[in-house]
Amino acid sequence: MKIVLLGAPGSGKGTQAAFIKQKYNLPHISTGDIFRDNIKNNTPLGAQVKSIMDTGMLCPDDLTIEMVKDRLRKPDCHNGYLLDGFPRNLFQAESLNRFDAPDIVINIEIDLNKIRRRITGRRSCPKCGGSFHIDFIGDVKECPNCKGQLIIRKDDNPETVKERLAVYERQTKPLIDFYESKGKLVNIDGDKQIDEVFAEIVKVLEK
Ligand code: AMP
Repeated sequence: MKIVLLGAPGSGKGTQAAFIKQKYNLPHISTGDIFRDNIKNNTPLGAQVKSIMDTGMLCPDDLTIEMVKDRLRKPDCHNGYLLDGFPRNLFQAESLNRFDAPDIVINIEIDLNKIRRRITGRRSCPKCGGSFHIDFIGDVKECPNCKGQLIIRKDDNPETVKERLAVYERQTKPLIDFYESKGKLVNIDGDKQIDEVFAEIVKVLEK
């Protein structure tokens, strides 16, 4: 099964991706995570994208597309994939359609007013990749999963969040119509509780 997860920053894509990965044993490919790993490991790619990511803008298409193509060629993707954060614009979506089109696109819909609160309360664990919200775990410093040191992602500050939401509106939202017209889109209400959202996704995937 080849799945694309669509949704605004803070819609819960990453959280749902972790559940889907566990249940269906699909490789979870998050372009944001791959870029962040490269920055953490001081690679040339990391150096190229660091300042762009700090502003909330998108990294260059050619570089991002090549990175995803390479990843999808790996043997663990032969039975499908779970893409999170890619494609992010029409150019990337058209390109993906040519090299490895998705079977289904799950669009997690969320009220944009709630997003700011969701993102600014987010705490991330660089060690296990977990993402949590202070409303659930409190303002703690330790990762509830692995005891790693929780951080606030550099691009989760209010200024960058504003830009990321603007980029989403301008560039990523048109993908909803794009995939709708191809009969691939399923909308999921992302305002519900995490486990309810996941139950909806499972229902759709098992149809
Ligand atoms: P995310 O973790 O998905 O919110 O992504 C964090 C940042 O990584 C984005 O704000 C972009 O700067 C960059 N990024 C992630 N995915 C893509 C993509 N598909 N195309 C371009 N830039 C991306």
